[in-house]
Amino acid sequence: MSHEARFVQFAWGLQRAVKFWGKARIMSGIIGKTRARTGTVSAQVLRRIRPVSGLFLIRACAVLGPYLTRLPPPTAITKQTPQDGKRPPRPMFDKRQKDFLTERSSTMTSPLTRRAALTGAAALPLAAAVTAASAPAAAADGHGAKAPASQSRSFNLGSLTVTALLDGSFPRDGAQGIFGGGATDEEFAAVSAENFIPADMAQFFFTPTLVDTGQQKVLFDTGLGQGGIQKALAEVGVTPDQIDVVVLTHMHPDHIGGMTTDGAPTFANARYVTASAEYDFWAKMEAGNRVGDLVAEKVTPLAEKMSFIDDGGEVAAGISAMAAFGHTPGHMTYLLDGGSQQLLLTADLANHYVWSFAHPEWEVRFDMDKAAATASRRKVMEMLAAERMPMIGYHMPFPAAGFVETRGDGFRFVPVSYQMMG
Ligand SMILES: [Zn+2]
Repeated sequence: MSHEARFVQFAWGLQRAVKFWGKARIMSGIIGKTRARTGTVSAQVLRRIRPVSGLFLIRACAVLGPYLTRLPPPTAITKQTPQDGKRPPRPMFDKRQKDFLTERSSTMTSPLTRRAALTGAAALPLAAAVTAASAPAAAADGHGAKAPASQSRSFNLGSLTVTALLDGSFPRDGAQGIFGGGATDEEFAAVSAENFIPADMAQFFFTPTLVDTGQQKVLFDTGLGQGGIQKALAEVGVTPDQIDVVVLTHMHPDHIGGMTTDGAPTFANARYVTASAEYDFWAKMEAGNRVGDLVAEKVTPLAEKMSFIDDGGEVAAGISAMAAFGHTPGHMTYLLDGGSQQLLLTADLANHYVWSFAHPEWEVRFDMDKAAATASRRKVMEMLAAERMPMIGYHMPFPAAGFVETRGDGFRFVPVSYQMMG
């Protein structure tokens, strides 16, 4: 904010404060006289208090005037007043005011009162929300997606550092048709309500995971291919050419989309790992299959740098594959063992954090073999709940990590809070 603007603001606040003080003085005079007369409060004490409180009032109002009165600065008022002189009804916080609060909180250098400091702090998440909303939507889908301001979060897992990387996020309608195969409308609505989410839409998240072993940087899945993963990596100071290993948990488009960028490998120095069953399935797919064609474009050209593993196979020290077929024919989860702590990277074992946990038997449209996918879900969730082992899932709400508890005949995903912070 320029000095001139700040001065105008100060003068405006002062003007209001003086008016307010004038009224307050008259009032306190009346009260003081009355009380002195009735003998309840000593007139001498009141005389001492009045100038002090008046000065305090001027200072406080000058600084806080614009906030206290919940009005935008004078320039904004001028713009807002229409021709007929009537001021239009104004929302509690309009865009201008958000910007105003944001600017003030980020650029103000003069000492702040506690109240002003609190106001400034309160404005920060708001500012983040405005930025996220106006930013060109992680470009996940072209639906006007809103991504949280931060796209990365790291966890300590013994000797391993595990970082969730948000590649994209967007809302989608028709949730029951996607996640509630076999559920009645009533059942689906009841589970949704019980978990405080709407039954008619789902927020999708796409979260590749980076595991740093100290020796190697291992990336699990590559995102939608629209640049989100590069941004998320940049947040933790990693460039794509620093990735040593790329593991594909399976080959659906939202996992292999980022393998190449403008026709060239995105992770130029990486070797690749995937399940042999997965590669064999897609590699023999005839042309014309949407996923098969994308595999042919994004994965097959890199096959010579790829190693194929089976259940129990090791990717790097402390990282081993655990088959969980069903979602696709070669879908793998990965056990991350940091010595003192373990975590299971569950990939697409469960596609929704509420519905697929509460009812693992509800069919998910993206599961290729529904029965096998359900069996895998139950088996792995039972293990996670029994061991109290943390998990990180590609489509869980960011930062995608949490725990599993049993609930009734099903399970419940308990999102991570401050566990694994170090
Ligand atoms: Zn997926």
